Amino acid sequence: MPYKSPEDHRNYYRTYMRRRRAELATAKPKAKLPWRPSCRMVATVRHWQYLAQHRPSHLRQPARAIIDGLDLTTDEGAFEACRRYQAHLDARCAARKREAEEREAVKKAPARCLFCREPASPDRILVGEGRYSICEDCVAEAANAIAAHKRSATESREQLERADAGYRYSVQGAPRHRLK
Ligand SMILES: [Zn+2]
Repeated sequence: MPYKSPEDHRNYYRTYMRRRRAELATAKPKAKLPWRPSCRMVATVRHWQYLAQHRPSHLRQPARAIIDGLDLTTDEGAFEACRRYQAHLDARCAARKREAEEREAVKKAPARCLFCREPASPDRILVGEGRYSICEDCVAEAANAIAAHKRSATESREQLERADAGYRYSVQGAPRHRLK
């Protein structure tokens, strides 16, 4: 930018730096242009119009909802369809972003025990990797439960065998050989 005098240049630069340090805008904001659909979007809407006229059964969602009730042969109708299409894309983009953020939040959250849902801590060490980890307390509890289950299963089998042996004894008399 040519300046009339060095003084002008200095003044300009001084103001510029002062505004920059104060984190104020240093340039005039650009006039925002009104939204306009992209060529691709216009072409897509034109394709939907073709489908609606010639092959209505090929018109799927969201195209069907977007052009519903619009006269696409007029500029206004086509423009409105583009506007609705843009709104649809924006909403989908926002939803995907939200989902990605939720996934990140889940990833960042401290690992929890799959059984008792308690978060991992120095007192509660998780065994196993990633999403499928169980705390040591629950592992011990599970081991006890399994041992108790096995014990009771063995006991009931032994009881059954004893009852069976007693029945045979009563029917056949004393066993001639040891029961297996
Ligand atoms: Zn646990």
